[in-house]
Amino acid sequence: MCRYSGYCAWRGVFDFTGKESSGIITGIRRAYPELGSCLYFDLAEKTHAVLYELPGNRLNWLWYINGPEPELTGSSVTMKVSDATLAGMQEDAERVWSPELARLIRETAEPFVNVIYDADPLPRLSWAGGSVALVGDAAHPTTPHGLRSTNMSVHDARVLGECLARWGQTPPPRALAEYEAARLPVVAAQVLHARRLGRLKQGL
Ligand SMILES: Cc1cc2nc3c(=O)[nH]c(=O)nc-3n(C[C@H](O)[C@H](O)[C@H](O)COP(=O)(O)OP(=O)(O)OC[C@H]3O[C@@H](n4cnc5c(N)ncnc54)[C@H](O)[C@@H]3O)c2cc1C
Repeated sequence: MCRYSGYCAWRGVFDFTGKESSGIITGIRRAYPELGSCLYFDLAEKTHAVLYELPGNRLNWLWYINGPEPELTGSSVTMKVSDATLAGMQEDAERVWSPELARLIRETAEPFVNVIYDADPLPRLSWAGGSVALVGDAAHPTTPHGLRSTNMSVHDARVLGECLARWGQTPPPRALAEYEAARLPVVAAQVLHARRLGRLKQGL
């Protein structure tokens, strides 16, 4: 059962191809001099933002905002927002963040909102006498603050593959039990760690 975290993330990617020497880029590089070699986390009152550079002349930013759970239609956690909501967010950014980050947020085309969920760790990762196993987000949806969601999924798949190779696929119960023993404690701890980080940074 997914648990709403208590906050959503505004997100955007600013493509600065051909604008490397523009005021917005020189300003942001002055304010965040290690861009390109780290992630920046900006903390403010009950909120935080993340900023980092992606390959291909792009800056990726996220801004987490506390609030009631929005009503989602369909199965996507990504929400389209009205122009008025977008303008309100850009205005708020001017009050909360540095002028450089606020400008980046304002000038990013088509920011969008992700509603942030996780789930309490499951008591197990395999069922039905060893014929069903969960990996990745299906096994452990997590908030993004540990920056490990994809890595956890890849690692699950790798460990599962190694266990199957070790024990053979027929019958697989032993392989799945070994997979579960290796991964369950790790992923459970990671989900709770990410949850705690998010709650701390959001003042919850
Ligand atoms: C907006 C967003 C941003 C993210 N950013 C990051 C990030 O920066 N770094 C990071 O590490 N993680 C990030 N994540 C998390 C990351 O995407 C997931 O942790 C990762 O994709 C999980 O991989 P997965 O294979 O378990 O699941 P998924 O990637 O969700 O793959 C599941 C697949 O199963 C398919 N499927 C579902 N139901 C069925 C069905 N009944 N039959 C057949 N196929 C089905 C789906 O279509 C999908 O292709 C982000 C997630 C979101 C939503």
